[in-house]
Amino acid sequence: MTRFAPSPTGRLHAGHAFSAVRAHDFAASRGGRFLLRIEDIDQGRSRPEHVATILADLVWLGLDHEAPVFQSARRERYAAALDTLRARGLVYRCFCTRAEIAASQGAPHGGEPVYPGTCRRLDAAEVAARADAPHCWRLDMAMAVALAGPLLWHDHGHPVAAMPAAQGDVVLARKDAGTSYHLAVTVDDAAQGVSDVVRGIDLFAATHVHRLLQALLGLPTPAYHHHPLLLGPDGERLAKRHGAPTLAALREAGEDGRAFADALREGRLPTGFSTANA
Ligand code: GLU
Repeated sequence: MTRFAPSPTGRLHAGHAFSAVRAHDFAASRGGRFLLRIEDIDQGRSRPEHVATILADLVWLGLDHEAPVFQSARRERYAAALDTLRARGLVYRCFCTRAEIAASQGAPHGGEPVYPGTCRRLDAAEVAARADAPHCWRLDMAMAVALAGPLLWHDHGHPVAAMPAAQGDVVLARKDAGTSYHLAVTVDDAAQGVSDVVRGIDLFAATHVHRLLQALLGLPTPAYHHHPLLLGPDGERLAKRHGAPTLAALREAGEDGRAFADALREGRLPTGFSTANA
């Protein structure tokens, strides 16, 4: 069983189609199931019209999937998982703002800065005094790694040693969302019985964290199949700024979606695009 898990924060482009086709075909070629999970925990950026467009895009591409599951309807599950970790002292409240975190260290090489652990060092009285102030919950990474011990997952059948420590005390419950990408994905892949995660190699780093959370929460580990990314003409991961047409625009222009999906399957990419491992 595989899944496609888009976030409905914008329109899908060829990079999403590339990933969806791979996940779909992985399941189809093995007689397995293909799930659609709408990752809409970010209520500020998720839009119902984007959900509608995603559903239409998948029909257009000819990718049959099961009834979508919405993360926004599953908050209790994520809260329960966070409770489990909290009961074991593995998470702590963090009151830092983004600006404070950015100011506390040099600019990172892209991506989120590694959290310096400021609030991990607060004592109980300080936390109690501020408990009503806005806060997120972070994983105490060092404690979690020590507790879990060495971990592996399989990527394309090859063992990979999980090394989540480099990502520091990741957020498991955002101030605004009550959960986070890492926690929601880990809980849902297990709850939905996803046996094989087929997704872009840009999420490889996240898998180290997901493997750790699986161990801490006693959840099964799917097999992972990270795939190369579709790159724009500048060799960077295809993104909005490349101005590549969205799937919706292609559909509205009368392009044949099944033929588009077949072209991606066969490596016939739109002009200027290429694929590579990140
Ligand atoms: N929702 C994530 C995204 O749109 C993908 C999650 C995943 O495949 O694990 O990037």
